Order: sequence, then structure tokens, then C-alpha cells
Amino acid sequence: MKSRTPFLIVISAPSGAGKTTLCQRLLVEFPNLKLSISSTTRAPRGSEKDGVEYHFLTSEAFKDGIDQGRFAEWAQVHGNYYGTAKQTIESNFKKGYSVLLDIDVQGAELLRQAFPKQCFSIFIAPPSMEELERRLRARKTEREEVILKRLENAKSEMDQKHLFDAVVVNDSLDNAYAQLKALVEKKIR
Ligand code: 5GP
Repeated sequence: MKSRTPFLIVISAPSGAGKTTLCQRLLVEFPNLKLSISSTTRAPRGSEKDGVEYHFLTSEAFKDGIDQGRFAEWAQVHGNYYGTAKQTIESNFKKGYSVLLDIDVQGAELLRQAFPKQCFSIFIAPPSMEELERRLRARKTEREEVILKRLENAKSEMDQKHLFDAVVVNDSLDNAYAQLKALVEKKIR
């Protein structure tokens, strides 16, 4: 099923807020919603594969992309570059699909400005900073200094949640998903 007007559904959250799981559930529920695979200069984590979770680029290739205007938005997050290719949005919109973007607060702001009528942004907030720290440590995928950097960034990300069209608190996954689904449904179904 295709959406009437394709939308950008932009989801931002501090890392560890449960965003990835929620996004996966949305993609299963809404066949007219396609995930945007970002480009990044960060190294692959664990079993991540090029072209699946991200397009992993060298800094040089990423900077070439910026110079050539290939990104709809890009930002430096946790010391690495991340960006959304214009091509990803355009090719999905052409097919009538909406696009789900899991991007940071800076990228969300850029897309709200670039697509004022076709962008719906949702901030996923953790129930508390203590819970966020607990979840980040439980993942056991990052070094201590990376965890500390992410917690520090989380504080400034939380300060920008009022800029989003909606905020969902991830206290329980099922509860948060029900709220998220209702918001997305209004836009693309
Ligand atoms: P991670 O390294 O944990 O996969 O992602 C780190 C942060 O970068 C997350 O907040 C994620 O949403 C954000 N991010 C991923 N892709 C993009 C992108 O294309 N643009 C922007 N601005 N942020 C992104």
C-alpha cells in the first residue's frame, strides 16, 4: 500500500532510548514506510555490514559528498559524520513511499526546515537519565569514554525535544510503540 502524500518521519532520541527497536516495529507495521540508510564515517560496530545499517564511508568520501551537495542533511555526532543522501529521499518519494529517518537532533532541525510541509518529527525520550545510563551500559558494545560522551550529548539532546512535533516517553516498549504508531498512522495511512 502506498501513502497518499509521502512524508519524512524523523525520529530522534539519545542513544539508549530504545529508538532502534521502535523503528524496526514501525517498518514491519507500515509497508509504505522505508528506512533511510545513512552514511557515516564511524567504524562498523559488532556485526554491522556496509549498506545494511549504514553506508560506511571514509572521511574523505564523506567530505566529497558534502562538497557535491549529495546530502539532504548531515551533522557531526559523537565525533563522527552522519548524513542522509538526497537520493534516498527523492527515490522513495517518487515511488510514493514515506521515509523513516533515525537521525540526531541537528539533522532533524535541518529536515524540518528543508521539508516544512512533508516532515513529521518525533523525539523519543528515556524515562530518566539514570535509566538511559543503565540501558547504555547494558548494551556492552561501547567503551567507557564513548558511554560518557553519549550521556553528555543526551543532556543537550533532551534540551531540544520541544522543537519536535511530538515527544514519546519510552517507559515501556509496548506503551511507547502504541503512541508512536498512532502518531505515524495519522500522517501516512
Ligand atoms: P550510532 O553511531 O549509535 O549508530 O548513531 C549515533 C547517532 O547518529 C544517533 O543519534 C543517530 O540517530 C544519528 N544518526 C544516524 N544517521 C544519521 C544521519 O544520517 N544524520 C544525522 N544527522 N544523524 C544521524
